Amino acid sequence: MMALYKPNISFLEIHATDPDKRRYAVKEEGPRHYIDIDHYGMYPFPLLPRKWNDAIAKFSKDSILEHGIVPWHIQVMLHRLTDAFIKKDFVSIMKNSAEIGHYISDAHVPLHTSSNHNGQLTNQRGIHGFWESRVPELLAEKKFDFFIGKADYISDPAGFIWKRILESAKASDSVLLFERDLTKIFPDDKKYAFEERNGKVVKQYSSSFTLAFNKKLNGMIERRMRQSVYAIASFWYTAWINAGQPNLQSLSKKTFNSEEIAAIDSLNEKWKKGSVILGREE
Ligand SMILES: [Zn+2]
Repeated sequence: MMALYKPNISFLEIHATDPDKRRYAVKEEGPRHYIDIDHYGMYPFPLLPRKWNDAIAKFSKDSILEHGIVPWHIQVMLHRLTDAFIKKDFVSIMKNSAEIGHYISDAHVPLHTSSNHNGQLTNQRGIHGFWESRVPELLAEKKFDFFIGKADYISDPAGFIWKRILESAKASDSVLLFERDLTKIFPDDKKYAFEERNGKVVKQYSSSFTLAFNKKLNGMIERRMRQSVYAIASFWYTAWINAGQPNLQSLSKKTFNSEEIAAIDSLNEKWKKGSVILGREE
């Protein structure tokens, strides 16, 4: 698998964000990125059936879609990736590997499992990007450790991903609470700072507020990111095993042809034009 993935590492990196771009072009895309699990009562949410058919029978498909489907969509993506391995379809393997990684990572972000996903209900707007962008941008490269050892075969992918969802749901209260606590002791001019970003001066959470938040979370963001890396590798490996462990040697020299590149680029074009059908702000 290494022989296939390593040479294509930049493709995976670039296209891991395609699902977010697609949210601007495809209406069905939005709900695949989150689940407002607090809509279904209290942790550990026994009222919500974990199986898709049971869940839509109980709550209706419209309602389930409205509150997000990330744990189910990851299972759909696992099937697609497994199929791609069975067919030894290089483009499909790469595309689905990048995209399943996106959804798995979303499932590891606490606020992707809460209806208060951007703090909009508690006057904490911006907290979504604070947790998943600002803190990692400041710390991930230099301070976080992403060596996680080997991938494992996942015999129960549904059970595995629901566990991650429940961990995220449990953590989302602390994420909101700690930001609130720190806001009480940081005056506004210390909480935010005007800093340069891609050549522009923008208002963002100050470095000191960001570091204080990360400290209060006691390593949560690094742990979730590590767990996410492990989960993605393990889902890729599981798809390959379930496909019958096809020999990937013949694919390792493959590259994308111009048609395939064009199809991928057209998504970017649509995204830039920005016909916005975003279901929710982030
Ligand atoms: Zn997403």
